Amino acid sequence: MDNPSKGGEKMMKDKYAEVAAKAGMELAFDPAALAEKYRQERDKRLREDGSAQYREITGQFAHFIDDPYAEPISREPLADEVEAVIIGGGFGGLLAGARLREAGVKSLRIIEKGGDFGGTWYWNRYPGAQCDVEAYIYLPLLEELNYIPRERYSHAPEIMAHTQAIARKYDLYDDVCFQTEVTGMEWDEKDAKWVIGTNRGDRIRARFVAMSNGPLNKPKLPAVTGIEAFKGHTFHTSRWDYTYTGGSSEGNLTGLKDKRVAIIGTGATAVQCIPHLGEWSKHLFVFQRTPSSCDVRNNAPTSPAWEKKLQPGWHKKRVENFNVMVTGGDQDKDEVGDGWTDIFRNITNRRKLNPGMVLSREEKELLGELADFEKMEEIRARAASIVQDPATAEALKPYYKQFCKRPTFHDEYLQTYNRPNVTLVDTNGKGVDRITEKGVMFDGKEYEVDCIVFATGFEVDTAYTSKSGYDIIGRDRTPLSKKWADGLRTFHGFYSHGFPNCFFLGMTQTGLTANMTHMLNEQAQHLAYVISHVRGNNIKAVEASQAAEDAWVGDINRLAQVAGQHYATCTPGYYNNEGKIGSSGNGFLSGQYGGGPVEFFRILKEWREEGALRGLEIS
Ligand code: NDP
Repeated sequence: MDNPSKGGEKMMKDKYAEVAAKAGMELAFDPAALAEKYRQERDKRLREDGSAQYREITGQFAHFIDDPYAEPISREPLADEVEAVIIGGGFGGLLAGARLREAGVKSLRIIEKGGDFGGTWYWNRYPGAQCDVEAYIYLPLLEELNYIPRERYSHAPEIMAHTQAIARKYDLYDDVCFQTEVTGMEWDEKDAKWVIGTNRGDRIRARFVAMSNGPLNKPKLPAVTGIEAFKGHTFHTSRWDYTYTGGSSEGNLTGLKDKRVAIIGTGATAVQCIPHLGEWSKHLFVFQRTPSSCDVRNNAPTSPAWEKKLQPGWHKKRVENFNVMVTGGDQDKDEVGDGWTDIFRNITNRRKLNPGMVLSREEKELLGELADFEKMEEIRARAASIVQDPATAEALKPYYKQFCKRPTFHDEYLQTYNRPNVTLVDTNGKGVDRITEKGVMFDGKEYEVDCIVFATGFEVDTAYTSKSGYDIIGRDRTPLSKKWADGLRTFHGFYSHGFPNCFFLGMTQTGLTANMTHMLNEQAQHLAYVISHVRGNNIKAVEASQAAEDAWVGDINRLAQVAGQHYATCTPGYYNNEGKIGSSGNGFLSGQYGGGPVEFFRILKEWREEGALRGLEIS
């Protein structure tokens, strides 16, 4: 989508028209003109400072990341030994715990910073917090726990309760250290054990360590001039201050009745909390830099008739069906059939409607682009049909490909802008100019407010060890921070050469899915397999061989080029390193397995079936 010449533009137009004709699509839009509009919208958002436009939550903002939910505990430091330590008590850590328990590992220790299980759902309790992925596939271990979610898209309290139920079912409360942060870990070669230190003075020895720190666990703030000067109240959405706003994640923010509130950011979090802020604030100013794409939610209570019909094995089947759908594969039936699968369904339906259609690779890509334009036209038309003020409606229309940013789904978000007490301050891609003692400045105007809510997201492009908050000293005393200084180096995303019996879970060169818990479950099952194999075969330690690691990193880099091209044309954001592809980092989605999750899970399955731990060095 680079700026095409006039001749090039005509050629693109013809190509789009040819593909549309082959696929029987009637285009109600001009794809070449839209492509040009997308390019302009991206270009005006590109900025020199990239990710450096954000600042860490330190100094006078350090309290922003204090735990507002738990009573601080005090306890004696531990000096003990367990078979496996799991770092993180979110879904990744819980699934690892559950699968290790199933594999017979009794001696476990889970280390978690929060005051309970839940991970992201422990911290993110802002009003309206809800999962965008269907609960029947997002909540893991539903059949194991014999639980059916109450509604199609669960709200945060139900999700948090489910994490607690998993912990109870697998006796994980017995072995958890809450309010505890790992400060470092070192491999003791003599004893073939990891020695893990924490901020409570613990010294825990473990044969295995599995890390599931979470990819978006460190909130960030914009490094806007004057941010320290504001004299009113402020907080970040990931630690919602209910003592100030009143209410709960269900809303009822009575403390805001007489308050003028500003919210900075309009990402997936803001889309969910803005309807509540709009309902309760005396006046709400929404400072927008880039609009989110906001599709219908269509939430509904779970139907007892549907529930009755479920057969054993339904959950895995539904989870896998969704995964195939959102990876662009064919399925007889789109089980979930929501906004996530919609765009892919459009493409596969086109193919089904035209069984004789033969498309070249380039034409398939163009068909994908056309389906994306079509979908985004629908999203833009939705904004226009809901928001009464035409200028506000126009400002809320996103001009980029659907997956350039996290898509959102909500049935009250756009409607909120019809309230007389809500003002959208669209910064036309620039962001707010500055913050003053009294409020927020944009375009020469000062918006005086009592409170600023930062919905500005989480650190993404900082190094793995900086995000996790601790370093790992491997077999030859090399710190992981040094080994990974130029990027992640793993085999299958799990292990790194020189770090025996140490397993990474989460987004470390893995098969990423839109349904994160599916990915974490596959990883946990794989982890349990490897650990069972090691325990059952008198093996002391396993680690990635240098050759296997090199080959995997090679695959990741080779396959990443295609995704890189896609994201290079995207509007800036944390998905594409703020538009700076190829520099210090490539963004949230880069560095994952470019062959997609279906292929990645198949690779893991075949590797397990082979049973030889190929690519691992055994001692
Ligand atoms: P995001 O990083 O997605 O959003 C940050 C927002 O802040 C963006 O709108 C950004 O604009 C804006 N922003 C940043 N700097 C400025 C500035 N100087 N002036 C004005 N605006 C600014 O964070 P979120 O917390 O919204 O979401 C993070 C992730 O959490 C999601 O992407 C998703 O993965 C997850 N999430 C998942 C949910 C679920 O249902 N499972 C629900 C909620 C969140 P710009 O776009 O221009 O950069």
